[in-house]
Amino acid sequence: MVARDGNQGAPDVETVVIGAGVVGLASARALAMAGHEVMVLERHGAIGQETSSRSSEVIHAGLYYPLDSLKARLCVEGRKLLYAFAEENGVPHVRYGKLVVATADDERPRLAALAAAARANGVTDVALLNAAEVQAREPEIRCAEALLSPSTGVIDSHALMVALEGHIRADAGSVVLNTSVEDIRIGPAGHFALATMSSGAPATLTCRNLVIAAGLGASRLGAKAVTASSTRYIPPRTYPARGHYYTLDGPTPFRHLVYPLPREGWLGIHLTLDIAGRARFGPDLEWQDEPSTVFDAEDGARLARFEQEIRRYWPGVPEHRLSPGYVGVRPKIYAEGEPSADFAIHAEREHGIPRLVALYGIESPGLTSSLAIGSYVATLLRP
Ligand SMILES: Cc1cc2nc3c(=O)[nH]c(=O)nc-3n(C[C@H](O)[C@H](O)[C@H](O)COP(=O)(O)OP(=O)(O)OC[C@H]3O[C@@H](n4cnc5c(N)ncnc54)[C@H](O)[C@@H]3O)c2cc1C
Repeated sequence: MVARDGNQGAPDVETVVIGAGVVGLASARALAMAGHEVMVLERHGAIGQETSSRSSEVIHAGLYYPLDSLKARLCVEGRKLLYAFAEENGVPHVRYGKLVVATADDERPRLAALAAAARANGVTDVALLNAAEVQAREPEIRCAEALLSPSTGVIDSHALMVALEGHIRADAGSVVLNTSVEDIRIGPAGHFALATMSSGAPATLTCRNLVIAAGLGASRLGAKAVTASSTRYIPPRTYPARGHYYTLDGPTPFRHLVYPLPREGWLGIHLTLDIAGRARFGPDLEWQDEPSTVFDAEDGARLARFEQEIRRYWPGVPEHRLSPGYVGVRPKIYAEGEPSADFAIHAEREHGIPRLVALYGIESPGLTSSLAIGSYVATLLRP
């Protein structure tokens, strides 16, 4: 990749998106649909190798998020867009529905509050079920009461990303793999000059618009863009927090996703089903100094914690049926013990740099929200 003109005159590309996770791809698709000439740069040899391939793959309804937050708005809008996109593009998905369970009577007020919050967010199809109604649907689940969310589902996230990449290419955009953005400078013409490393070879690429959709790498790149400008803005810091999943060996007795009540910014060890109906449990929450997706399969204490949590709503969980699955790392922008933060989608108004959009803290429900985030990014870069 060689710059045509340094940083004077016309840039090499109109718009660059850094990161080929689901959010970068959805943003690139929305920008291409809005008429941008788009190039996605991805450091790995394939799309979606980081957080986007290590999630629960749940299409969230939008129950949990504070009223009027970006998470609430983009999740509800994104869920509708995602179901429609999946239908139109043949992306495998299943609308299993979900039960959020109050496992004891003293949890029922929190369940009622969750139902009210969901309705306020525009999720109007939720219903409270008593213990007998839950038993009729899920005979193995024990609870005092549950909130049914029929519009919760799951999606094949890899197939989604492949479909998004297809749209980008069909709109004359490109996705360039094995290309890491190492530095960002801003030239006299106001174009961004990206120092890249492609398969060991350094190069420079200039662009007029820049989107940083780099997940766990966003804060580092945001800091470089800020250093290149004279702004005093400080980009959010990223605090990695990993979550482990265990898979259930053998057949699953469940037809819904099952979640305990959320606590302190965490959804709890929940049961999700994949597209094929296989059950997995997780993720737990473990704050890290550096992101790591290594699963310490010998950690018996973790397995015991999982079994204890699961037993609260599935007392009959059989022994020796859980196998280590995988680990995903959340790009949180608040530290352990701090209140949870909204998505941070920062444009000139926040950081003072024209034609730069940087996305920080795109944790759950980022997959569900991806198409809505993409539209929002395209709006922020409207000429
Ligand atoms: C455990 C877990 C469970 C989750 N479950 C759900 C769920 O059920 N439902 C839901 O809606 N959401 C869920 N999420 C959230 C969702 O997975 C994320 O919000 C979403 O995948 C974020 O996508 P992204 O494109 O922003 O980030 P990523 O997928 O991390 O993509 C960023 C990309 O940028 C690339 N990159 C970084 N730095 C550079 C650089 N310098 N140069 C070039 N490329 C670079 C990376 O290689 C990567 O491919 C979950 C997240 C986790 C961690």
